[in-house]
Amino acid sequence: MNSQNYMERAEQNVLHTYNRFPVVLDKGNGVYLEDVDGKQYLDFGAGIAVFALGYGNTEFNDALKNQIDKLIHTSNLYYHVPLAEAAEKLVKASKMDKVFFTNSGTEAIEGAIKAARKYAFLRDGRTDHEIIAMNHSFHGRSIGALSVTGNPHYQEAFRPLMGGVKFADFNDLESVKEQLTEHTCAIIMETVQGEGGIYPADPEFLKGVKAICEEKDILLILDEIQCGMGRTGSWFAWQEYGVEPDIMTCAKALGCGVPVGAFVLNAKTAAASLVPGDHGTTYGGNPFACAAVSKVFDLFEEQNIVGHVQQVAPYLEKKLDELVEKYDFLAGRRGKGLMQGVIVSGRPVGAIVSKALENGLIVLSAGADVIRLVPPLVITEADIDEMVKRLEASF
Ligand SMILES: *Cc1c(COP(=O)(O)O)cnc(C)c1O
Repeated sequence: MNSQNYMERAEQNVLHTYNRFPVVLDKGNGVYLEDVDGKQYLDFGAGIAVFALGYGNTEFNDALKNQIDKLIHTSNLYYHVPLAEAAEKLVKASKMDKVFFTNSGTEAIEGAIKAARKYAFLRDGRTDHEIIAMNHSFHGRSIGALSVTGNPHYQEAFRPLMGGVKFADFNDLESVKEQLTEHTCAIIMETVQGEGGIYPADPEFLKGVKAICEEKDILLILDEIQCGMGRTGSWFAWQEYGVEPDIMTCAKALGCGVPVGAFVLNAKTAAASLVPGDHGTTYGGNPFACAAVSKVFDLFEEQNIVGHVQQVAPYLEKKLDELVEKYDFLAGRRGKGLMQGVIVSGRPVGAIVSKALENGLIVLSAGADVIRLVPPLVITEADIDEMVKRLEASF
């Protein structure tokens, strides 16, 4: 069977909602992936900021295998060991109060929205609350998450969406103030916008939003699905700002490839929002998913992944800045830690990404004009040098 055959069969049967790259991936080792034809790819995409630990991590894989042999699923009607362990570790890393496990990022956003609305409902009994979201944000594809995603292109065909959502400009505090009303119950944003083009929040902006939230008892929801779990050089990106969210969402690297997300509440929100009967999930946080989360936290600690990101990220920044210096069509770099974007001007980003793939390098795009680099968090300086070589060959 060659790759052409697998691609044809997939296209025959899988709903065509992705223009996939013509590659059939088969296995992974460290920061390299291999396709069915044996071609190797240096992976600076990590399955969209998911596979933080690198591929073929024996300890991680063994923990998953052990859990499979023990117990895969229970439903949430019962307690299980990995649930207790995973929740404790996520609460400890975030220094927040309570966690609800979901199956994906978009479901974590749904839960965060429900928790915020319930909090406001318990406070004033009204059912006309509003949420302020940001332009160029991305929070997921289910109707609630799509409703707070500031991208008309993703929304248009699916209207009417969830009501009560207003949009402000990211990093523009005045525009947030303009959208405030007495009905506002929450402000939602990514701490570092990912899909929109790798825009970190300005410290002044985030602090300003937090101040508004505190003054008016509005909940701050920070979406850490892409920028969290060590990627920016701290457990969660907001921890670098000294601004705590009331609700945080988490997914992507949380399970390192096992589908799991979470929304995490601070004590104030946990004490006065969702109660039994308000929210649920059949799979969410099952023993298999929680065993993955639990092991991810253990390995992050053992391998000091967050410290490693702090150490290696400046080298990546330096190398990317050198490229921006060298090539006229590279207009700049934005990002934090191992979440970096290189801005391309006057050339299609898609063509560079495709060429890189041909040259054995996986990079992603973001927004209209950004090459996005979100590698496994275990990359070394040598991997970065190799990435630069393959990327330059693709220009
Ligand atoms: C990927 C992403 C989501 C959606 O997560 P899914 O697991 O794809 O549903 C939400 N928010 C942000 C910031 C993301 O990057």
